[in-house]
Amino acid sequence: NKRREAMDAATWERIKDHPCYSEDAHHYFARMHVAVAPGCNIQCNYCNRKYDCSNESRPGVVSGRLTPEGALAKVRNVAARLPQLSVVGIAGPGDALFQAERTLKTFELIRAALPDLTLCLSTNGLALPDHVDALKALDIGHVTITINYLDPEIGAEIYPWIFHNHKRWKGVEAARILHERQMEGLERAVEAGVLVKVNSVMIPGINDEHLTEVNTAVRARGAFLHNVMPLISDPAHGTKFGLEGRRGPSPAEIHTLRESLGNDARLMKHCRQCRADAVGMLGEDQCQSIDTMAPAATA
Ligand code: SF4
Ligand code: SF4
Repeated sequence: NKRREAMDAATWERIKDHPCYSEDAHHYFARMHVAVAPGCNIQCNYCNRKYDCSNESRPGVVSGRLTPEGALAKVRNVAARLPQLSVVGIAGPGDALFQAERTLKTFELIRAALPDLTLCLSTNGLALPDHVDALKALDIGHVTITINYLDPEIGAEIYPWIFHNHKRWKGVEAARILHERQMEGLERAVEAGVLVKVNSVMIPGINDEHLTEVNTAVRARGAFLHNVMPLISDPAHGTKFGLEGRRGPSPAEIHTLRESLGNDARLMKHCRQCRADAVGMLGEDQCQSIDTMAPAATA
């Protein structure tokens, strides 16, 4: 396929069983998210904090908050029942690197108990530069950063505030800091050999026309994949964008944007915007049935 032809054998080895990085793999391998990251260091206007992190996941249902030990027990349980399980990710329900010690501890436990699993995480990028070395030490080779803008004026329309260096920052100043941290995190992760996927939420009237520039910038910095996701905007969820009546893009608008980005092997098109506690093959999540299963006898 296109993506395989576009890369060397070593890179293919690293993505061939990751259902998000390889479109082929999503038919054969399963991933699970463990919801060990409750807090967040920024506010997105498409989030209301009662639901899972919309950076990576579909809002609508609150994930249970797991401890690192609880997450390991759940991964063992799922691995014993789902032989296709190849990837465990941390994608919320808040930001995976805000309380990084919880995320790193979880990875440490899983790495020691189930060394064959691929581990990945998703973040808004604000804290990423501080943790690239720790991620590298744990051999976390796949990281997703949500990058929705380069221009801080546009960023300020998406993010009202951030919490950084023990202080709350607002408006354009906050958006400038977040942008600089995202670019630094991306560059340092790429330098460390991580395969970085960039997610961008397409928000009509705010960043839709800006995302081609975002695409050029993240490719230039070595992002492996760019995933353009539609804003999910529902007033019932109480997000600022939802309450303002801001709509998500139509399938045709997403398609046109993807075409303008080259629609090539470095564009992800099969993302399902999974929940922060998703389990299973993409699009066939089994969260509830797994949660209600008895613990595996061998766990
Ligand atoms: Fe919500 Fe995720 Fe944004 Fe934090 S980064 S405000 S959890 S969508
Ligand atoms: Fe993969 Fe997208 Fe689901 Fe993340 S949200 S696990 S990238 S399909």
